[in-house]
Amino acid sequence: IKNKENHQFGTDVGKLLNLMIHSLYSNKEIFLRELVSNASDAADKLRYLALQNGDLYEGDADLKVRVSADKDANTVTISDNGIGMTRDEVINSLGTIAKSGTAEFFQNLTGDQAKDSQLIGQFGVGFYSAFIVADEVTVRTRKAGEQSAIEWQSKGEGEYSLVEIEKAERGTEIVLHLREDESEFLDEFRLRSIITKYSDHISIPVEMFKAPVPESEGPDGEKIEAQPGEWEAINKATALWTRDKSEVSEEEYKEFYKHVGHDWEEPLTWAHNKVEGKTEYTSLLYIPKKAPFDLWNRDRQTGLKLYVQRVFIMDDAEQFMPSYLRFVKGLLDSNDLPLNVSREILQDNKITQAIRKGCTSRVLKMLDRMGKNKADEYQTFWNEFGQVIKEGPAEDAANKEAIAKLLRFSSTHTDESTQNVSLAQYIERMQEGQDKIYYVVADSFATAKSSPHLEIFRKKGIEVLLMSDRVDEWMMGHLTEFDGKQFQSITRGDLDLGNLEDEESKKAQEESEKEVEGLVERITASLGDKVKEVRFTHRLTDSPACVVVDDHDMSSQMQKLMESIGQ
Ligand code: ADP
Ligand code: MG
Repeated sequence: IKNKENHQFGTDVGKLLNLMIHSLYSNKEIFLRELVSNASDAADKLRYLALQNGDLYEGDADLKVRVSADKDANTVTISDNGIGMTRDEVINSLGTIAKSGTAEFFQNLTGDQAKDSQLIGQFGVGFYSAFIVADEVTVRTRKAGEQSAIEWQSKGEGEYSLVEIEKAERGTEIVLHLREDESEFLDEFRLRSIITKYSDHISIPVEMFKAPVPESEGPDGEKIEAQPGEWEAINKATALWTRDKSEVSEEEYKEFYKHVGHDWEEPLTWAHNKVEGKTEYTSLLYIPKKAPFDLWNRDRQTGLKLYVQRVFIMDDAEQFMPSYLRFVKGLLDSNDLPLNVSREILQDNKITQAIRKGCTSRVLKMLDRMGKNKADEYQTFWNEFGQVIKEGPAEDAANKEAIAKLLRFSSTHTDESTQNVSLAQYIERMQEGQDKIYYVVADSFATAKSSPHLEIFRKKGIEVLLMSDRVDEWMMGHLTEFDGKQFQSITRGDLDLGNLEDEESKKAQEESEKEVEGLVERITASLGDKVKEVRFTHRLTDSPACVVVDDHDMSSQMQKLMESIGQ
């Protein structure tokens, strides 16, 4: 027996634990969902590695999770025969928070417990949720194929201990020593109902021990046979996505999302499809309610899992979704890819391309449907992910029209910063004779809204889209028309209002131009090299002058963007 070593938790862990225990006391039971979810992931990982090396099963390929309670010891135990962990993996996974988005999460904390409680849900709770109900947690684990096993133990207060142990069975056993007032979780029926509620969709058996029944007599004196005690599965134990849509309830889809998406919140919507024909696959794609903290990290993990013939292959299968849909979570199960598929093989692969194309259009359709039928939900979606969708027209020219349908803008129709005007709505409100979609891009919503370029449009009652997101200028560079109508920036070049000008005002304009003859020349002379040209304009009604860019020159916002990246 080796000596026990004590280790300090990473600094963040203490903060996280504290916050979690205080935030989740009204929803304690989810600890079991998290631990069963981890056990199921561990089974997935083992099955994958065993494809190459069957010895890893050590003669036991029946993957499962077992949950039991011990009233005398006041403990609940969750054990699995999945992949297990090495000593280093234990330190990395249970001693620090290795998740992506951690830094962003801690930056977002305010110190206000009510507000921070919301954030913790968004961050995801995971293994540490064990401490909501336990005052001491013991993890015993042995990695498949390894000899040495390790015991991790902690009271959740700043430090944990490690000691090498003997462990015959591969996998991980987690013993929760319950806090004083948490004995409800010793009750077998309570545990069963929690598992049925949250973990029914887990694809390996989640078993509990059925106590033996002694021989007895029935009401008419007949003998009732004794039943030996045995482990029995209390979940359906089939992969949810292989079931027929009509047989899966909303609740099951939602709980399954929390498991695959490692998310705490329910999803906004989802699409479950079996595709048959040349390429055969099943996709189950979810749109989250909240953007993750690391949505803008370049190296963030995406949320798509790849399965091949129901065997888990990899997390983060980013090849199957374009970058502007990187918030989509869920899974793909391909019938055509080989089981030994690698990231290298996935690249430039015909099957990958076909699935990616199918999934992309499925997501675009799902969002379009939401936009049409569930405006409130769509607004939630747009507020969280609209900026990412705006990368779409540049990235995915083939789907430009479908992406444009998803866009929402602020506009002079409401003058509110909420982006809730679709291009279709804009077109419906176009004035007689108007054939362009007018827009203005500025550094902020306030600047856009009070742009002097808007004066003439406001006077004539013509709606203008107000844009001020960082990506807007770039996006508009890739979006030339929608529904046959050209986009026209109102700050560019010689604004031609075309049929919107009436004869009368044209005459008035000519007259006023005569009145100030010579003024343009004098201003040109005094500004010299600072400008390209000074022009007379009828765009302005209240302001005396404004700066415009030529049709083919870089816009002022684009110039600033280029300067900011050192160009
Ligand atoms: P997540 O599941 O989102 O990765 P968790 O906090 O639930 O986060 O778990 C952290 C990590 O600990 C997991 O990613 C995994 O590497 C490891 N882990 C947890 N439970 C087990 C288990 N039963 N078997 C093997 N590894 C586990
Ligand atoms: Mg987990």
